[in-house]
Amino acid sequence: MKQERRLVLKTDYSTRRKVAKWVLGCYDLQPTISTDDTINCNGYYLPDEDTVVLNPKLSAYDFIETTIHEAKHVMDAYKYGIDKFRTRYNQASVVAVNCGNDPYLDNKWEIRANNFADREMKKKWRDLYNDYSKSCEE
Ligand SMILES: [Zn+2]
Repeated sequence: MKQERRLVLKTDYSTRRKVAKWVLGCYDLQPTISTDDTINCNGYYLPDEDTVVLNPKLSAYDFIETTIHEAKHVMDAYKYGIDKFRTRYNQASVVAVNCGNDPYLDNKWEIRANNFADREMKKKWRDLYNDYSKSCEE
């Protein structure tokens, strides 16, 4: 992606957590943010601990997109409550499996979070993260 190459973002954990805090704050969300470079995925949300875990090794574009994806899960957990969200999320995985699909990739909550992140990146984040990357280059 063209805009991905334009974004410069330091990869140290402290900077990455600051960026994630900034992104989540733009959605009025203040979950605990944790970085873990041993996870074999981009990130995940732990509703019981209200913690977003992010892979700091991602490219800048993927890191912000993943943070927004997790933001959608946080919003859903706050909206429905942790128990209801967890139940509905697990049900959606069962439905996906019963339909012969992948419990994660075809989970409707994952699809919604992906669509949300995709829309948000196109709609408002391109300019914002370019501004931010400029400020990081000083
Ligand atoms: Zn997800």
